[in-house]
Amino acid sequence: MKSLLIINAGSSSLKFAVFALPLTQDAPSIYRGQIDGIGANTQFVAKDIDGKTLLDTFIKSPEGTPLEAQQQLALDALLNWIESQNVQLAAVGHRVLHGGKEFCAPVQITPEVLAKLETFIPLGPLHQPHNLRPIRALAKKYPSLPQVACFDTAFHRTQPWEAQTYPIPRNFTDEGVIRWGFHGSSYDYIARQLEGVIGKEKAHGAVVIAHMGNGASIAATRGLKCVATTMGFTAAEGMMMGTRCGTIDPSIILYLVEKHGYNAAQISSFIYKESGLLGVSGGLSQDMRTLEASDAPEAKEALKLFYYRAAREIASLTAAAGGLDALVFTGGIGENSSAARKAVTDYFSWMGLKLDPELNKVRGKAHCIHAADSKIAVAVIPTNEEWMIAYHTTSLLSL
Ligand code: AMP
Repeated sequence: MKSLLIINAGSSSLKFAVFALPLTQDAPSIYRGQIDGIGANTQFVAKDIDGKTLLDTFIKSPEGTPLEAQQQLALDALLNWIESQNVQLAAVGHRVLHGGKEFCAPVQITPEVLAKLETFIPLGPLHQPHNLRPIRALAKKYPSLPQVACFDTAFHRTQPWEAQTYPIPRNFTDEGVIRWGFHGSSYDYIARQLEGVIGKEKAHGAVVIAHMGNGASIAATRGLKCVATTMGFTAAEGMMMGTRCGTIDPSIILYLVEKHGYNAAQISSFIYKESGLLGVSGGLSQDMRTLEASDAPEAKEALKLFYYRAAREIASLTAAAGGLDALVFTGGIGENSSAARKAVTDYFSWMGLKLDPELNKVRGKAHCIHAADSKIAVAVIPTNEEWMIAYHTTSLLSL
């Protein structure tokens, strides 16, 4: 069967989805899964279209195998398994963190494109090299297999100058210390669904889209184009997240260095791994479901802060977008937590925003959840980043 492979590769994980060709609107992937724990205990799980587990195994490698070799073993295991399913790959689409200023849309990989993407590694050292490694490996193994890169940053390149610029010395701005924005494939997908869910007029007005998952960001669109977003130079700015702190006073970092002797690795761990819901809940959990189910006061405080920070960001984006015609929730929390949607939208009741409590309980489909007399539309739209990458891959390659 002719198919398309979508890859989202990180340093210790490789997520994948396989779509049958021709691709239809919102077609489910025929296979999906992930290889986790690369570099430690590498586990490969693959599921079929119904979510049934087809494979759950560990990939063994000799003690001391370098990380890069283990990442290659993981990719080889995935390609071998796909071959064993009688899947014939027509192309591969990749989620890539950074497209810089050059790539504002998906692009077919050529040696020149790959070389350019490698120059963005200093802008995203935690992700970019790992996103590019499977592209390079596949190009070597199957030189005629077309590959496409879809960038997390691309959707946000329509932001005006003031939304992309930090108030810092210009030489840093010139070398790329700007507000890039991320979660681009998710926003791209949601923006394309807006007309169908909230109607053409509102869709083209001022819309704030809250992508609230373990990683969380919020973006504002006008005319379906991004005008502002909460993530900045990296995916650490803006919203409080599962384990990331989001926006904090930058001098807290100086304090950690001077008072606690923190080095770069400790600072990185503080920003990315120890903060957010996990940190505020006193280490209880980064998972919204666990916190919602907990009676611990720290869990309640973590939720309260999450809702408050989301509301503050939404208000800021409303100013940037020049209004608020619609508010859209997506991501694991945005799609599934009616409590989070209620708590966040309560902050906007003074603007005449009202939820319909029954509609707010409905799950699993794109729909409006505002009351009939609400002045602002509110919707839930399940995101579909893999399908979005598959769509761009087929469109670019005319598959
Ligand atoms: P994501 O990163 O988009 O997969 O989202 C993960 C987050 O969504 C985690 O914090 C989960 O706890 C949260 N989540 C998933 N399902 C639910 C649910 N039914 N209720 C509340 N939160 C949920």
